[in-house]
Amino acid sequence: MPESLISLKDVCVHIGAKVALHDVNLNLVSGEIVTIVGPNGSGKSTMLRTLVGAITPTAGTITRRPNLRIGYVPQKLHIDPTLPLTVRRFLSLPRRVSNAVATRALEEAGAGDLIARQMTDLSGGQFQRVLLARALLNDPHILILDEATQGLDQPGSADFYAQIAQVREAHGCAVLMVSHELHVVMAASDRVICLNGHICCEGAPETVVSAPEYRALFGSGTHGALALYRHEHSHTHDDSCAHDHDHSAEERT
Ligand code: ADP
Ligand code: MG
Repeated sequence: MPESLISLKDVCVHIGAKVALHDVNLNLVSGEIVTIVGPNGSGKSTMLRTLVGAITPTAGTITRRPNLRIGYVPQKLHIDPTLPLTVRRFLSLPRRVSNAVATRALEEAGAGDLIARQMTDLSGGQFQRVLLARALLNDPHILILDEATQGLDQPGSADFYAQIAQVREAHGCAVLMVSHELHVVMAASDRVICLNGHICCEGAPETVVSAPEYRALFGSGTHGALALYRHEHSHTHDDSCAHDHDHSAEERT
């Protein structure tokens, strides 16, 4: 049996008066690749931030393997355009790392040539690779990526996913990612989790694609990004802490 790295049990997260996540159960084991899909506002980023410890659940429990190391690539990272900051210095924030460690991480992320560049001069794809390098600095057991290819063009995003596959091969780490590019990531995933405030369905990619819950959210095709913005409710939520679940975020999209 593969080792359990981190698990969520009956997790609910309220943000203000709003229920962002409810009754979430998840177990991530070593080496697996798991993709989370879901409409905008469905709690994907909230779930990742809960896993990395940035958000404390309102209810439920998180169990982490002792000394678990997580590498996290957030959805958004704003760098002040007026602030001079080289890639090398960025990698030493907030914790100083040696040149050797910084260089190795950049090479693993396919960004070995960027070490002396200014952060604000990087292209979208280069910036994401530097974020990936930063996530690799502590030799993580799990790499968590939140829409890491958002804003990249199709070849750029394919390159980035190929890099992730290489990193996983080299590190043997588990990968948990949020992606809108179903057609790209589904084939590479061991498991897909379909989220809409709670886990609607999960399983092997081909199982999830044919699940009624998934089809209700994304339509019957696997058209990836386009399908994700269409969202209809064909199932009811009768879970205990879902009383004020609000779908305004999806309706805005
Ligand atoms: P996703 O990543 O799936 O688009 P999020 O996890 O970012 O969704 O958000 C889930 C819900 O929580 C949304 O309805 C969003 O509006 C709300 N939310 C997230 N972060 C905040 C915040 N800082 N303040 C208020 N509401 C938030
Ligand atoms: Mg998000």
